[in-house]
This record gives sequence, structure tokens and C-alpha cells, in this order.
Amino acid sequence: EVSIRDLSKSFAINGRSINVLKSLNLDVKPGECLVIVGASGSGKTTLLRVLAGLEQADGGRVLIDGAPVRGVGAERAVIFQEPRLLPWLTVLGNVTFGLEVRGIARAEAEERARGYIRLVGLGDFADAYPRQLSGGMAQRVGIARALTVQPEILLLDEPLGALDAMTKITMQEELARIWHEENVTMVVVTHDLEEAVYLADRVLILPKEKGDTTRLIDVDLPRPRDRSEIRFVRHRE
Ligand code: ATP
Repeated sequence: EVSIRDLSKSFAINGRSINVLKSLNLDVKPGECLVIVGASGSGKTTLLRVLAGLEQADGGRVLIDGAPVRGVGAERAVIFQEPRLLPWLTVLGNVTFGLEVRGIARAEAEERARGYIRLVGLGDFADAYPRQLSGGMAQRVGIARALTVQPEILLLDEPLGALDAMTKITMQEELARIWHEENVTMVVVTHDLEEAVYLADRVLILPKEKGDTTRLIDVDLPRPRDRSEIRFVRHRE
């Protein structure tokens, strides 16, 4: 379980301090898919980076199974909008790389990597180079690379943001399937509300303006989800 307690973070911009996260409290349950939405600048990426250990909070803490998070850890893997594959390595090489860095012997690393490459549907492309892949395929490699280290928690920052509309839909289905099959806890940042509702157990809405409140919404739709069930109605308040 991820416990976020009284988390706050400010940045100094032009001599002014901007309060990005204000005393945030939240528990992410094991195996849950939590999606973070909010206006541009509301702090989605900042929150994800704090969870990843890439950014330090000013106040409060993040606990994983009761232990404070310090820096990056093997139980968390991060997926960014661009997978930034190493161009001189094949798909297999890219996915294996992180395991070899962790000291896992090549044969074992490759066997594990091949399993995840198949899982993301790229079984025939293990020997291809990044320049031979489409954007969606490259992002699949990024997902396989993150899964190969067998993290408990997958942190995704607009993972499908750079993809065209059709590929995005396919990849949302892939992510939902992988989340289900791998039994991994997922925290996803997105701008896309339909994507949020398609993937999430709960949606966290970060406030932008002073006076707005943080909101947490349960998505009560059966899985696998039917897109035609997802509709938005604008309410006047
Ligand atoms: P977007 O949807 O546009 O990606 P976001 O919700 O992810 O936005 P963040 O990237 O977390 O928002 O940024 C929140 C605020 O913090 C912004 O006002 C931004 O200018 C500021 N900020 C983020 N990182 C830094 C930094 N390293 N130095 C200074 N200010 C920062």
C-alpha cells in the first residue's frame, strides 16, 4: 500500500513561491489503478515524480507498506510519455538492459525480457531496432522494459499522450489487460478524461485554483469496460 500523508511541495518561480501540492492525503490500495487528472500546472507530474522518488517533497511523507520512500526503488517503475529507447540496442537489448544493470545474468534476463516483449504483443520484433518501430510500438517496448523489473507499482506519466487516437484506444485496452494480468498497482497521469474513466478504479482530481478542493471519485463500472458506457455530462454548479 502507498500512503501519502500531508504531502506538500512548492516551487520558487520568479521569486514567488508556488504551492503545487498542499497537504495531500491519499492511500493507493494494492492492485488498484488510480488515475490522476487536473488542469495543466495542477501538479500531476510533480506528484508522480515524488512517488517515483525523483523529486523530494517539502513536507509530509510517502510510505510504501509502512516504510518511507527514499529515492528510486526496485518496487517502483516509471513510464514517461516518450520511452527514450537506446537506439543502438534492439528491442530485446533495451528490455534486458535494466535487468543486466541489476546484476541478473544475461540468459535469465533475456528469457524474462522475451516473456514481457510477447506480453505487449511484440514477439516478432525482439530483434528490431527502435528506429524501425512506430510510436505505439516504441511505447510498448517502454512498458515491457518497466514490467521486466517486476515492480509492485507502475507509475505512468501520460504514457499514451504522444499517440494517435486509434493507437491510443488499443493501448488503453492493452494497459487495462496488463494491469489485470500482472496484478500491479498503477498510478496514471493523463489529460484524457475518457482514458481516466476507462482505466481507473478511482480518479484523483487535483485542484488548480486557490479554493478548489482535491476530489477523489470512484469509478463504478464493470471490467472489462465498455467504452459506450463512458459519457460525460456537464454540470452547472
Ligand atoms: P501538465 O498537465 O501541464 O503536465 P502538471 O499538472 O503535470 O501539468 P506539474 O508539471 O506538476 O503540473 O507542475 C506544477 C507546477 O509546478 C507548475 O506551475 C510548474 O511551473 C511548477 N514546477 C514543476 N516543476 C518545477 C521545477 N522543477 N522548478 C520550478 N517549478 C516547477
